[in-house]
Order: sequence, then C-alpha cells, then structure tokens
Amino acid sequence: MDELKPELAARQQQGLYRRRLISQSPQGVRPVIEGRQVLSFCSNDYLGLANHPRVKQAFKDAAEQYGVGSGSAHLVNGHSQLHHDCELRLAEFTGRDRALLFSTGYMANLAVTSALVSRRDFIYQDKLNHASLIDAARLSDARFLRYAHQDVTHLKQWLDQHVTEYPQARRLVMTDAVFSMDGDIADVSSLAHICQQTNSWLMLDDAHGFGVLGNEGAGVCQLRGLDQTAVPILMATLGKAVGVSGAFIAGSEALIETLIQKARSYIYTTASPPATAAAIVQSIDLIQRESWRRQKLLDLIGYFKQEISSLGVELMPSDTAIQPIVLGDNHLALEASQSLFNEGILVTAIRPPTVPEGSARLRITLSTSHETADIDRLVKALGSIRYMV
Ligand SMILES: *Cc1c(COP(=O)(O)O)cnc(C)c1O
Repeated sequence: MDELKPELAARQQQGLYRRRLISQSPQGVRPVIEGRQVLSFCSNDYLGLANHPRVKQAFKDAAEQYGVGSGSAHLVNGHSQLHHDCELRLAEFTGRDRALLFSTGYMANLAVTSALVSRRDFIYQDKLNHASLIDAARLSDARFLRYAHQDVTHLKQWLDQHVTEYPQARRLVMTDAVFSMDGDIADVSSLAHICQQTNSWLMLDDAHGFGVLGNEGAGVCQLRGLDQTAVPILMATLGKAVGVSGAFIAGSEALIETLIQKARSYIYTTASPPATAAAIVQSIDLIQRESWRRQKLLDLIGYFKQEISSLGVELMPSDTAIQPIVLGDNHLALEASQSLFNEGILVTAIRPPTVPEGSARLRITLSTSHETADIDRLVKALGSIRYMV
C-alpha cells in the first residue's frame, strides 16, 4: 500500500486533503466538535429538526415496537408498515401518485438512471449538479451531455436536435433544484416547459429545497406550482431539512413500479431501519404545520445578506439558506475556515472536486435555529479576515 502515499502527500500540498471533524453532540447550531462547543454554519439541518424532541420520540417509539434493523431488502421482507405509511405520506405531501423510499439520496439518484435509460438514450445535466447525479449518469450506459450552469437555451438546442435525429431515444434531463454548493434555484419552470415541448423527462433533485421552499415546505415544485406532469420525476432527500436520513422518489404509478422492478440500488440493499420512516413522518408533520420555521429562516437569510454586503464581501446570487463566499484558492479557503474556527465558528472549506477548480469557498448555511446575534458574530469574524474583502 506504500504506493498510495505519494498521492496523499500531493493532496496535502494542493490544499485538497480532507479531514473528518469528530462531533460529540446532536446536530444543531451549537455542536461540540472535538471537545469544544462551536457556533456552526455548515449543517444542512436547515430547520433544526434533526434533534427535535418529537422527531426523536417518534424514532424511539418505533424502535421499541419494530426493533432496530430492517433485516433485509424491501423486496424480501424488509418493507415494514412504517416504511409503507411514510411513502403514502410523502406522496400526499408532494401531490404525487406514489413515492418510494431509499436509504440515501445517492442511491435514489443511481436508481433513476439504472431503471430508466440505456445505451441508445440521452442524459442531460447542468454542469454544477451534485456528484451523485453525475455518478448516476456515468454508471448508466446512456449518452451523457452536460450544459453550462443554468444554460437552458443550450439544453433546448440539444433536445430539439435529438428529437428529430434520434426519435426512438429517451431523453432524461436531471438537475439540482437548488444547487448544493451555490444556493441558486434552477429555472425549473423553463426546464419543465422545454421538456414538455420535446417530450423529454425532467427529474429534479430537491435535496436542498424540500422542507424549506414552498408554502408548506413541499419544495421547489410547490414554490413554482409544478405538478407531476410538469416534473414527472421528483427526488428529495430526508437527511437535510427533514433531519432524519434517506431519500425518496415521487411520481406516477408506472414510474414507481418500474423503479421497484428494475432499480438495482433499490433492490440489492437492505431497507433502512423502520424507525427512520416513523421519524420522517413526524418531521413532515412539523414541516407542514410549522411554517414559522421557514419564515424565520427567510428572515435570517435576508439579515445575513444585508449585513455581509455592508461589509463589502461578495456573495453568490442565492436567496436560499446556502450562502457561499468564494475565495478561489484552496489554501486560502482552508485558512479562512481555520481563522473562523479559532473564533469558535465552524464553517468547513469546500474545495474541488466538490466545486470547480479555482472556486474553493466557505459554504455558509443558515438554520432556523440561528438567531440574529449568531449572524452578527459570524459577520464580525468574517470581517476580521484580511483577504475577505
Ligand atoms: C446530499 C445530496 C444528495 C445525496 O443525498 P444523501 O442522502 O446524503 O446520499 C443528492 N443530491 C444532492 C443535490 C445533495 O445535496
């Protein structure tokens, strides 16, 4: 294994080495990291539900009744009543015919390509899509095309061309609904429109919109008023704003049955613990009912943007809870993250290949559990980093 060492050393030198911080507390805005309590601005627990008493109680009660492990795959005997009820709830909440649970978002994305496209088909993706979507396309046999970030015009040209040149091929457009490292929202209405015009399938990965966007928190589709016809394949994760674990795909009966029959990342894996499904249902109830969580988050986003711009720091064009500050250089991003940590503030540096080369950044995320005083502290600490402005 010695031959692995030079590459590790090279990564150190390029500022690309990754290290795991050990957390010793629940998720929240004041976690204990390696023995020290810090103020955190990098969790995806946007609504503060990962440690909510009622969600935890639902988890405990379900574990009491159903035990811990699910024992096998959904198609053997791991599909519990709790999983089933959770799927019904997710379908209802998203206004789709059906929903299907997955253990992780990564696996849900792999499921779509493995079940729906093959060698003569096309996949189109935004250049800034999440790695799991990119891997899903790479692992399929379909032809894979990537358009520049948010370049709907270019996508439309490809779709128009392929409709006539390859009338038999399937066309699957896959995009982050909220871009995970930039925070901007995809132009989902235009995408839905051109996909309908060209008889192509649109899949949205709403990992960062679900729970947070839309008047009840059902995500980007609710925000933009897009039903199952406009967005036939909706995927969202359950480990971020929902605060639990896993993911789901929602859509028509035919879509869900096809995934159950064919998706390898659904079939060949053990079902998630039933208690997670119970916790998800409880969390969805809170999301739907407690709209104050979304309102407060929106207020905090507005406050942060206002304070940071009065400091003269440039933000990305994002109105969501993801507010990155791009520093460019890997070492600089690491150094900024370290300076903040020295002030008791946790914001991890995000570097390539998670983001494009030369765009290393501090990916700041806000949560309903933050207060304006927390943001004041962050902005003050950022202001004291000399290369920040
Ligand atoms: C986090 C994320 C995923 C992966 O979901 P997991 O449940 O963490 O595997 C997929 N897509 C996007 C856009 C994400 O941000």
